[in-house]
Amino acid sequence: MSEEIKKCPVCLSEKNALFDQRQFRSHQVINRVCGSCGFVYQSPRMAADELDAFYASEYRQVYQGKAGPTPKDLFMQNGRADSLLDILSAQGAAAARYLDVGCSSGILLQRFQDHFGCEVVGVEPGDAYRAYAQKQGLTVVPDIADLKGARFDLISMAHVLEHLPDPVSYLADLKADYLTPSGLILIEVPNLYSHDSFEVAHMSSFSAHSLRQVLGKAGYNMIALKKHGRPRSEILPLYLTALAQPKTGAPGYRLRPERNVALKRRTGLLWRRILQKLLPRRAWVSVAQVRE
Ligand SMILES: [Zn+2]
Repeated sequence: MSEEIKKCPVCLSEKNALFDQRQFRSHQVINRVCGSCGFVYQSPRMAADELDAFYASEYRQVYQGKAGPTPKDLFMQNGRADSLLDILSAQGAAAARYLDVGCSSGILLQRFQDHFGCEVVGVEPGDAYRAYAQKQGLTVVPDIADLKGARFDLISMAHVLEHLPDPVSYLADLKADYLTPSGLILIEVPNLYSHDSFEVAHMSSFSAHSLRQVLGKAGYNMIALKKHGRPRSEILPLYLTALAQPKTGAPGYRLRPERNVALKRRTGLLWRRILQKLLPRRAWVSVAQVRE
């Protein structure tokens, strides 16, 4: 069943305090904040075997009541692809071999393939989404270990890192086993200071600061960070998108603790409520034209 996380997933400190407690669907969700570095993580949380079963089938149903991609889902993924391509273009990025971890229905793979003319491969543990992507002619495997030996010069993880039990190790393994030495990693996560964040499947919640710390500890330099709401909002900074590259030179990284995390969360959500009141149409882009 559920497991208690005794050490901070980033700095390994055992000091922590209750940060948020709520009901999400039928689940009790408890988040704690690290007393040393300020990282926010769920504890107790689902154990590894429970998580595997959850993603194999339950996840999409919990979120959408269906086992395959809905029109709204496809609309969101296309909007997200536009946004990620804009961020990459602004950095002059290119790719020859591209891997999308958590590729869902494969829209990002198709869009990147069209844009860069690159070879694309996806990882998707969810059976229904993987089958859908494969039906589009894409190469998609259930587990990244199935790609052992392959190297990619661009790897993306859009709305994946917050789901992983150990984000630092996962990113370090990507660097060691799958990314070329000068490759790029593109990561998007919900922003703790604007997004609701505390869902049952979110093991961690990131601020711009903690995302930088996690990347640094895993052996990357962050080269760009964008706070934005695309495709859901024109003005709310719901998401954090980071572009990073493997660090060269001496290993090791000195963590910089983040302070006043609770205050920043409260302020961020207050600002969000104000913007929703003042500019409702810009705060939330209508997806009503998309039929379920
Ligand atoms: Zn910590």
